[in-house]
Amino acid sequence: MTMRGSCLCGSVTVTLPRDEKGVNVCHCAMCRKWCSGPWMALQVPDAEISGDTLKVFKSSGFAERGFCEACGSNIFHRPQLGPELAVSAGLFGEEGLELASEIFSDRKPDFYDMTPAPIRKSSIRMALEWIPKLAWRVFAKK
Ligand SMILES: [Zn+2]
Ligand SMILES: [Zn+2]
Repeated sequence: MTMRGSCLCGSVTVTLPRDEKGVNVCHCAMCRKWCSGPWMALQVPDAEISGDTLKVFKSSGFAERGFCEACGSNIFHRPQLGPELAVSAGLFGEEGLELASEIFSDRKPDFYDMTPAPIRKSSIRMALEWIPKLAWRVFAKK
């Protein structure tokens, strides 16, 4: 089954080649600035994203974020080098969605709480996981 979602105004559509029900939550400060709360996303490297109002913003030295310039909806996050595309869970209907993981769990501010996800990764664990991976990709590209 494919899953189809869209931004608030409907101009940007996202199609997933199969059902993806695991929601991954990021508590990092950048995501919280981006969407005024934890960002909830589905990891789907082969998602198809289209729409004339889709804009891409380089949000850091290694990542970029897509959004709809008409309505402001957050659409995706991905590394500039690599396949780890995540799309906003809120673009899709919530039926069947379940909490899969939290990342940057130590960066969650105290003023909100949620049911803890089965997998929780702190910022140190994220750094240990990602820095070698990204360093290798930069090296391999040269
Ligand atoms: Zn839109
Ligand atoms: Zn984040």
